[in-house]
Amino acid sequence: MVLDQDVLTVLKLLMIGESNVGKSSILLRFTEDEFHENMQSTVGMDYRTKQVTIDGNTVKLAIWVSHFNDTAGQERFRTLTPSYYRDGQGAILVYDVTDRVTFMKLETWLNELNTYCNKTDIIKMVVGNKIDLPNREVSTEEGLQFARRHQTLYIESSAKTADGIKCCFEELVQKIIQTPGLWDR
Ligand code: GDP
Repeated sequence: MVLDQDVLTVLKLLMIGESNVGKSSILLRFTEDEFHENMQSTVGMDYRTKQVTIDGNTVKLAIWVSHFNDTAGQERFRTLTPSYYRDGQGAILVYDVTDRVTFMKLETWLNELNTYCNKTDIIKMVVGNKIDLPNREVSTEEGLQFARRHQTLYIESSAKTADGIKCCFEELVQKIIQTPGLWDR
Protein backbone atom coordinates (compact mmCIF):
# COMPACT_ATOMS: atom_id res chain seq x y z
CA MET A 1 0.00 0.00 0.00
CA VAL A 2 1.35 3.46 -0.89
CA LEU A 3 0.03 6.45 1.00
CA ASP A 4 -1.15 9.67 -0.64
CA GLN A 5 2.01 11.78 -0.44
CA ASP A 6 0.39 15.16 -1.23
CA VAL A 7 -0.34 15.62 2.46
CA LEU A 8 2.23 14.28 4.87
CA THR A 9 0.66 11.66 7.12
CA VAL A 10 1.27 12.23 10.82
CA LEU A 11 1.38 9.18 13.07
CA LYS A 12 0.98 9.62 16.81
CA LEU A 13 3.17 7.25 18.81
CA LEU A 14 3.11 6.91 22.59
CA MET A 15 5.92 5.68 24.81
CA ILE A 16 4.96 4.29 28.19
CA GLY A 17 6.54 2.30 31.01
CA GLU A 18 8.08 2.76 34.43
CA SER A 19 10.46 5.61 35.28
CA ASN A 20 14.13 5.18 34.35
CA VAL A 21 13.61 2.35 31.86
CA GLY A 22 14.98 4.62 29.12
CA LYS A 23 11.93 6.02 27.31
CA SER A 24 13.38 9.52 26.84
CA SER A 25 16.79 8.07 25.99
CA ILE A 26 15.30 5.85 23.26
CA LEU A 27 13.48 8.87 21.83
CA LEU A 28 16.63 11.02 21.95
CA ARG A 29 18.69 8.28 20.29
CA PHE A 30 16.10 7.86 17.54
CA THR A 31 15.52 11.55 16.80
CA GLU A 32 18.97 13.11 17.48
CA ASP A 33 21.28 10.06 17.58
CA GLU A 34 22.46 11.13 21.03
CA PHE A 35 22.73 9.44 24.42
CA HIS A 36 23.14 11.14 27.79
CA GLU A 37 24.55 9.03 30.61
CA ASN A 38 22.86 11.24 33.21
CA MET A 39 19.56 11.89 31.49
CA GLN A 40 17.28 14.22 33.45
CA SER A 41 13.72 13.27 32.57
CA THR A 42 11.25 16.05 32.04
CA VAL A 43 8.41 15.98 34.52
CA GLY A 44 5.19 15.50 32.57
CA MET A 45 5.88 14.87 28.91
CA ASP A 46 8.54 14.81 26.24
CA TYR A 47 7.54 15.34 22.65
CA ARG A 48 9.64 15.02 19.52
CA THR A 49 8.96 14.60 15.82
CA LYS A 50 10.83 12.80 13.09
CA GLN A 51 10.15 12.30 9.42
CA VAL A 52 10.82 8.79 8.13
CA THR A 53 10.41 6.95 4.84
CA ILE A 54 9.35 3.34 5.20
CA ASP A 55 8.51 1.06 2.27
CA GLY A 56 8.37 4.16 0.06
CA ASN A 57 5.97 6.01 2.35
CA THR A 58 7.11 9.23 4.00
CA VAL A 59 5.40 9.88 7.31
CA LYS A 60 5.92 12.31 10.15
CA LEU A 61 6.11 10.66 13.55
CA ALA A 62 4.82 12.67 16.49
CA ILE A 63 6.24 10.81 19.48
CA TRP A 64 5.12 11.41 23.05
CA VAL A 65 6.76 10.17 26.23
CA SER A 66 4.75 10.25 29.42
CA HIS A 67 6.35 10.60 32.82
CA PHE A 68 2.99 10.31 34.59
CA ASN A 69 4.20 7.78 37.11
CA ASP A 70 7.17 9.87 38.25
CA THR A 71 6.63 10.72 41.90
CA ALA A 72 7.05 14.43 41.29
CA GLY A 73 4.56 14.58 38.46
CA GLN A 74 1.99 12.02 39.49
CA GLU A 75 -0.86 14.14 40.81
CA ARG A 76 -0.35 17.11 38.57
CA PHE A 77 -0.26 15.23 35.30
CA ARG A 78 -2.53 12.31 35.96
CA THR A 79 -5.50 14.23 34.58
CA LEU A 80 -3.79 14.48 31.18
CA THR A 81 -4.00 10.72 30.66
CA PRO A 82 -7.11 10.41 28.45
CA SER A 83 -5.93 13.12 26.03
CA TYR A 84 -2.42 11.67 26.02
CA TYR A 85 -3.75 8.34 24.76
CA ARG A 86 -6.35 9.78 22.38
CA ASP A 87 -5.78 8.97 18.69
CA GLY A 88 -2.50 7.16 19.28
CA GLN A 89 -1.77 4.79 16.39
CA GLY A 90 1.24 3.11 17.97
CA ALA A 91 2.33 2.41 21.54
CA ILE A 92 5.83 1.51 22.68
CA LEU A 93 5.85 -0.21 26.07
CA VAL A 94 9.34 -0.06 27.51
CA TYR A 95 10.90 -2.07 30.33
CA ASP A 96 14.47 -2.40 31.57
CA VAL A 97 15.90 -5.92 31.08
CA THR A 98 18.06 -5.41 34.19
CA ASP A 99 15.06 -4.60 36.41
CA ARG A 100 12.41 -7.32 36.74
CA VAL A 101 9.96 -4.99 38.49
CA THR A 102 9.69 -2.84 35.36
CA PHE A 103 8.87 -6.00 33.36
CA MET A 104 6.21 -7.06 35.85
CA LYS A 105 4.61 -3.62 35.64
CA LEU A 106 4.09 -3.98 31.86
CA GLU A 107 0.75 -5.67 32.47
CA THR A 108 -0.50 -2.58 34.35
CA TRP A 109 0.65 -0.31 31.54
CA LEU A 110 -1.06 -2.51 28.99
CA ASN A 111 -4.30 -2.41 30.98
CA GLU A 112 -4.14 1.38 31.13
CA LEU A 113 -3.53 1.52 27.39
CA ASN A 114 -6.48 -0.78 26.74
CA THR A 115 -8.69 1.36 28.98
CA TYR A 116 -8.10 4.49 26.92
CA CYS A 117 -7.57 3.03 23.43
CA ASN A 118 -9.66 0.59 21.47
CA LYS A 119 -7.54 -2.60 21.45
CA THR A 120 -7.68 -3.02 17.70
CA ASP A 121 -6.99 0.65 16.93
CA ILE A 122 -3.43 0.81 18.17
CA ILE A 123 -0.36 -1.28 17.32
CA LYS A 124 1.75 -2.20 20.33
CA MET A 125 5.47 -2.84 20.57
CA VAL A 126 7.13 -4.14 23.73
CA VAL A 127 10.76 -3.03 24.10
CA GLY A 128 13.28 -4.59 26.48
CA ASN A 129 15.87 -1.81 26.86
CA LYS A 130 19.42 -1.57 28.35
CA ILE A 131 20.69 -4.80 26.76
CA ASP A 132 24.22 -3.34 26.87
CA LEU A 133 24.29 -3.86 30.66
CA PRO A 134 25.66 -7.15 32.10
CA ASN A 135 23.25 -7.58 35.05
CA ARG A 136 20.27 -8.87 33.11
CA GLU A 137 17.18 -10.01 35.07
CA VAL A 138 14.68 -10.70 32.27
CA SER A 139 15.51 -13.14 29.47
CA THR A 140 14.69 -12.64 25.81
CA GLU A 141 12.39 -15.69 25.97
CA GLU A 142 10.35 -14.12 28.80
CA GLY A 143 9.98 -10.89 26.85
CA LEU A 144 8.93 -12.79 23.74
CA GLN A 145 6.42 -14.86 25.69
CA PHE A 146 4.82 -11.71 27.10
CA ALA A 147 4.60 -10.24 23.60
CA ARG A 148 3.07 -13.43 22.18
CA ARG A 149 0.52 -13.63 24.99
CA HIS A 150 -0.58 -10.05 24.42
CA GLN A 151 -0.18 -10.07 20.63
CA THR A 152 2.32 -7.25 20.50
CA LEU A 153 5.50 -6.76 18.53
CA TYR A 154 8.75 -7.28 20.45
CA ILE A 155 12.28 -5.97 20.22
CA GLU A 156 15.28 -5.52 22.52
CA SER A 157 17.31 -2.34 22.49
CA SER A 158 20.03 -0.20 23.94
CA ALA A 159 19.66 3.55 23.78
CA LYS A 160 23.33 3.68 24.75
CA THR A 161 24.72 1.65 21.82
CA ALA A 162 21.72 2.35 19.50
CA ASP A 163 21.04 -1.39 19.05
CA GLY A 164 17.44 -2.03 18.03
CA ILE A 165 16.33 1.61 18.22
CA LYS A 166 15.80 2.29 14.51
CA CYS A 167 14.27 -1.18 14.01
CA CYS A 168 11.82 -0.57 16.83
CA PHE A 169 10.28 2.49 15.18
CA GLU A 170 10.54 1.07 11.65
CA GLU A 171 8.75 -2.18 12.51
CA LEU A 172 6.04 -0.36 14.43
CA VAL A 173 5.40 2.13 11.63
CA GLN A 174 5.50 -0.62 9.01
CA LYS A 175 2.79 -2.51 10.91
CA ILE A 176 0.66 0.64 11.27
CA ILE A 177 0.93 1.32 7.53
CA GLN A 178 0.01 -2.29 6.74
CA THR A 179 -3.04 -2.24 9.02
CA PRO A 180 -6.13 -1.04 7.09
CA GLY A 181 -7.85 1.98 8.59
CA LEU A 182 -5.06 2.95 11.00
CA TRP A 183 -2.91 5.47 9.15
CA ASP A 184 -5.70 7.36 7.40
CA ARG A 185 -8.35 7.67 10.07
P1 GDP B 1 12.77 7.32 31.38
O1 GDP B 1 12.45 7.81 32.77
O2 GDP B 1 12.11 6.01 31.10
O3 GDP B 1 12.51 8.34 30.31
O4 GDP B 1 14.34 6.97 31.38
P2 GDP B 1 15.56 7.88 30.87
O5 GDP B 1 15.61 7.93 29.39
O6 GDP B 1 15.52 9.18 31.59
O7 GDP B 1 16.81 6.98 31.35
C1 GDP B 1 17.03 6.69 32.71
C2 GDP B 1 18.51 6.39 32.93
O8 GDP B 1 18.89 5.20 32.26
C3 GDP B 1 19.44 7.51 32.40
O9 GDP B 1 20.51 7.68 33.29
C4 GDP B 1 19.94 6.95 31.07
O10 GDP B 1 21.22 7.42 30.74
C5 GDP B 1 19.96 5.44 31.35
N1 GDP B 1 19.70 4.64 30.15
C6 GDP B 1 18.65 4.75 29.29
N2 GDP B 1 18.73 3.83 28.32
C7 GDP B 1 19.85 3.11 28.55
C8 GDP B 1 20.49 2.01 27.89
O11 GDP B 1 20.01 1.48 26.87
N3 GDP B 1 21.64 1.53 28.45
C9 GDP B 1 22.19 2.07 29.58
N4 GDP B 1 23.33 1.54 30.04
N5 GDP B 1 21.62 3.10 30.23
C10 GDP B 1 20.47 3.62 29.72
